[in-house]
Formats: sequence, C-alpha cells, structure tokens
Amino acid sequence: MTSVVQVPLASRAVLRLIEPGSDAVCAGCANQVKFTARSKGRKVIANVYVGSRWDRVEHFHEDCYADAGEPYGPARS
Ligand SMILES: [Zn+2]
Repeated sequence: MTSVVQVPLASRAVLRLIEPGSDAVCAGCANQVKFTARSKGRKVIANVYVGSRWDRVEHFHEDCYADAGEPYGPARS
C-alpha cells in the first residue's frame, strides 16, 4: 500500500479596492460591501478551502476582517 500525500491548499485572503456596483455581503457584519465615492474603501476577498478543496469566496470589509482576527491569514494586496 502506498499512501498518497496531499499538499493542503490553504485558504488565503487578498485586499482589493471596492468597485462600483459591488453587491457582495460582508461575512463579518452581514452588511453590503458598498462602494462609496467619499471613502476609498477596501475589502478583503478570501478564497476558503475546506480540507484541500476550494469551497467558497467570502468578502469582508477591511475593518471587519481585522476585527475577526484575520481568519484566513493576513490579506495580501
Ligand atoms: Zn463588514
């Protein structure tokens, strides 16, 4: 018997500017991640892996992600 070693794919997060027309809902506070002309908002997009498989994308306000304790690691810009 040989065992197959699987390299785990880790969830990861990136920092992006919020774009006009964005209708994503923040996974932290459940409010929309909205573009506003006044504040140059940034959001965190996380690719979430469950086990070694990609499962979903989660969106966070930048602050909400920090408040949540950066659940998917530091967001890279
Ligand atoms: Zn939020």
